[in-house]
This record gives sequence, structure tokens and C-alpha cells, in this order.
Amino acid sequence: MKYKDGVVFWGKVSYNGTFHLVELKEEMQYAAREMDQISREETNNEIIIVSAIEGKHSPTSKHPEGLAIDVRSWIYRDAEKQVLLRRWNMKLNPDWDYDTRKGKKNYDIILENPGEKNEHFHIEYDPR
Ligand SMILES: [Zn+2]
Repeated sequence: MKYKDGVVFWGKVSYNGTFHLVELKEEMQYAAREMDQISREETNNEIIIVSAIEGKHSPTSKHPEGLAIDVRSWIYRDAEKQVLLRRWNMKLNPDWDYDTRKGKKNYDIILENPGEKNEHFHIEYDPR
């Protein structure tokens, strides 16, 4: 597992007009470990975390709560991205069916802005 320079896993984050002491939650640390393992098996690449608790995100973002990470996607070929989305979902959402999108879901695992310059994987813990 690698990290882009500047990625923050623990510290004070400003949101909703005040500072909060935040750390990347165990649920996300677990997800990152499992995703890294699968990425190395499928592509020989370690995952590269490009954002954790820091950075500019949408107002409803889970990043400032320590419940989301972004992972670099351009290091993978398109077919690899699809394989990773499937395998990461199967591992982290064992009670959710990737094809029918039915069942209980723990994590949202999304390729954001596919094909664009700011494309990345966004993974957040949001059980429902
Ligand atoms: Zn994100």
C-alpha cells in the first residue's frame, strides 16, 4: 500500500464551521488492506491512497469523518478496473450481489468521473 504525499490519516479537520479530531476509522483501514491484497493479486500493483481525511470534498462527504478514502485509478487498465470493482465489492460487501445490486451493503465502491482527468476510486463505509 502506498500513499500520495500529503495524505492525512489522523488529525484536526475543519468541517461544518469547526474543527474535529478525526482518524481514519478501522472499517476503512480494513478495507484498504483487503483492497491492496486483491490489487496485488490481480494486477501486481499496490493500491495508492490519494486522499483520506483531508482535502476538498462534497458537503455530504464521509472523508472528514474518517469513513472514506480515494484510490488512484489511472495505474490500472480499463479491464482491470472492472475486475477490481467486482472483487472489492465481493470481499467488502459479502451480503450484497454485485450483478443484481441487491442485499445488504457495507461499503460504496465507486469509480468516480470515469474517463476524466480526476478519475479515481472512492470507497466509503456506509452500511445500509
Ligand atoms: Zn472520495
